[in-house]
Amino acid sequence: MRDIRRALLEADVSLPVVRSFVKNVTEKAIGIGVIKGVRPDQQLVKVVNDELVKLMGGEAADIDYSKSKPTVILMAGLQGVGKTTACGKLALYFKKKGKKCMMVATDIYRPAAIDQLVTLGKQVEVPVFEAGNQIKPDEIARLGLAEAKKRSVDILIVDTAGRLQVDKGMMDELKQMKKVLNPSEVLLVVDAMTGQEAAALVSAFNLEIGITGAILTKLDGDSRGGAALSVREVSGRPIKFVGQGESMEALEPFYPDRMAGRILGMGDVLSFVEKAQEVMLEEEAEELQKKIMEAKFDFNDFLKQTRALARMGPMNRVVSLLPGMGKMSQEQIREAEKSLKIVESMISSMTPKERSNPELLAQSPSRRRRVALGSGRSQEQVSQMVSQLFQMRARMKNLMSIMQGGSIPGLDN
Ligand code: GDP
Ligand code: MG
Repeated sequence: MRDIRRALLEADVSLPVVRSFVKNVTEKAIGIGVIKGVRPDQQLVKVVNDELVKLMGGEAADIDYSKSKPTVILMAGLQGVGKTTACGKLALYFKKKGKKCMMVATDIYRPAAIDQLVTLGKQVEVPVFEAGNQIKPDEIARLGLAEAKKRSVDILIVDTAGRLQVDKGMMDELKQMKKVLNPSEVLLVVDAMTGQEAAALVSAFNLEIGITGAILTKLDGDSRGGAALSVREVSGRPIKFVGQGESMEALEPFYPDRMAGRILGMGDVLSFVEKAQEVMLEEEAEELQKKIMEAKFDFNDFLKQTRALARMGPMNRVVSLLPGMGKMSQEQIREAEKSLKIVESMISSMTPKERSNPELLAQSPSRRRRVALGSGRSQEQVSQMVSQLFQMRARMKNLMSIMQGGSIPGLDN
């Protein structure tokens, strides 16, 4: 965990974020089994990576579209982080998706800021609404929104002025604009090179104006992008897009797995562990196949299969994935779920010896009675499960020999 901590700090993840993340993962990692051939520290890197992905992922990186036109996106962020550039990129991105876009220039402070957006607008062929620099930003925003409604624009992207640091003037201005625009999205633009300050920065913007997501820019640089993790940890909001260059095409949806790999910077360890994992699954499958062929499929395997099925998710989803099984009624699905639980309880009441030798149960009524008592089920239920296992053995063996090139009875010439 010390190595992980160092890796995260080197990637510029903010210190408090590193602390809480490391603490959480440490708790989660305890008790996790290590794959054969992999060292525990290597396995841990994989655990950390998966947690990073989980933490940064979850929601789809799309924009929340409003029900009535236009969907308004308000941009926020410090000066120079790439807000104006991101406006142009977003406009192009949505235009390519067939949306009618418009941009609004409200940065009345920096000379040439309006021209910059107008130029980008020409480049991506999206109209820009501007009203000079003599009226206040929220007033420009109001006029821009009215114009967008008139032209029945799908997406209105509002560029704003940043400051070098978080300051009250900027926040008040953004709050005013938010009131006027009622935006579906308030996207905080964060420079990936932002170091340790990212957490405080995100926190300040989120508390003051409430962000809905973020855009991480300048990922084409050599920063490891730890700010991404800080954004998520501090605000609970997703990164929706990443910017990877100055050109208008250089915008991509955010991919949590790629980002996690980049932040950790331990790609070779990760691919090694993943490979080991695959090998293990293959070995398990081979083992099972061997057991089936030798008709040794026992209650341990039965339980493993049952649990694997349960892990796949709610029964109705599993069933919908199986060909020809899509028409199970809700009632039948509930029954199936219940019987999985019953099977588990009965197998838990068996001795290890009984689990690996189902014959013992088949031959001994007193053993079956004991299992029934222990699991709180009836003796008929136990007998039924035992005979089910033997039927399964036979069916699986048949199926396997067909799959291995045997012939289907009745179909051979
Ligand atoms: P704003 O002050 O937040 O509006 O920032 P600008 O959009 O004007 O961008 C500031 C500078 O960063 C400009 O030179 C941009 O070309 C550059 N820039 C913006 N996004 C990216 C990016 O993703 N990668 C790189 N390399 N440069 C970027
Ligand atoms: Mg700008």
